[in-house]
Amino acid sequence: MSIKISTSTRKVSDAERAEKMKKPGFGKYYTDHMVVAEWSEADGWGQAELKPYGPIVLDPAAAVFHYGQEIFEGLKAYRQPDGGISLFRPEANAVRFQRSADRLALPELPTETFLESLDALVKEDAAWVPGNVGESLYLRPFMFASEVGLGVRPTNRALYMLIATPAAAYFNSDNAVAVWISTEYVRAVQGGTGEAKCGGNYAASLVAQKAAAKEGCDQVVWIDAKERKWVEEMGGMNLYFVKGSGANATLVTPKLTGTLLPGITRDSILTLAKDLGYKSEEVMISVEDWRDGVKSGEITEIFACGTAAVVTPVGSAKSSMGTWVTGDGTPGPITGQIRNALLGIQHGTIADKHHWMRKVL
Ligand SMILES: *Cc1c(COP(=O)(O)O)cnc(C)c1O
Repeated sequence: MSIKISTSTRKVSDAERAEKMKKPGFGKYYTDHMVVAEWSEADGWGQAELKPYGPIVLDPAAAVFHYGQEIFEGLKAYRQPDGGISLFRPEANAVRFQRSADRLALPELPTETFLESLDALVKEDAAWVPGNVGESLYLRPFMFASEVGLGVRPTNRALYMLIATPAAAYFNSDNAVAVWISTEYVRAVQGGTGEAKCGGNYAASLVAQKAAAKEGCDQVVWIDAKERKWVEEMGGMNLYFVKGSGANATLVTPKLTGTLLPGITRDSILTLAKDLGYKSEEVMISVEDWRDGVKSGEITEIFACGTAAVVTPVGSAKSSMGTWVTGDGTPGPITGQIRNALLGIQHGTIADKHHWMRKVL
């Protein structure tokens, strides 16, 4: 399927775009175009179209407004040293989007169409891809149930869309985040939607985010729903614990038990850790392990990882068991090393030996 291209006649001027890209923030400005494709049970996927960015019209009885049948993805396009643009592991996002679709009873979008939509939008809106290290064009593919009607059933109509927003470098190296380990709320249960990237997971998480803010914390950390002791993930990011230091350090991340979102950044860091000569482990980590590990000094660094912020150091953790601080509360050296290694590959300044980058331009 090739994409129909209908370009905008009212693109943002060069001057206005340059002004917006001075301080892009995150999700503040959107590019000139978007991609839309419609699916129906009867006809399958229709032709995807790149068209001017703008509001869409939906019937108030569209299923997504009532029963939340929606999934999304997030990935980035990075400016390369030769002025070109590449995407980081978009095939992995395509596959995860299909898995999320299966879980939410939405149609699978073929990998080829997913990649074509990304290529088309990035090419058309290439001027929106910033160039400084850590900056990128964040791409947001999503899909939702558009069937009209209030009957509760898997939708027979869906809309796939892709939008893009320039993203600033997210890392504040002086500032490790403070986390609230929630014992009141749970994010995911076995058999639930924890592994799927669906809006509903986030809708259900916001009250805990509020509780975290009330405790003076930046983010919420989720623990497992059954035993209420195993650390799962943080907000929209996976977690890593660094045990030991220097060449003998081990990078430990919570095992994927079926309730965690399998992050592509998490997966990439498992590989990078080996490349850098560190041991890595995917294991169960309890809140006690966390507390005792930072107290004894065995855990030297903690960081969260995900597409949006790449790598974010985690400083203090607060829970009903008390508050404890990692190291001296400032970002550690391995956290910085992992972040630089990842950003180096993404920006094309470090060899891409695992073929993670897909060239668009
Ligand atoms: C998207 C997401 C992540 C991180 O995944 P990446 O592929 O690394 O961006 C982690 N946890 C949750 C809940 C997420 O939605």
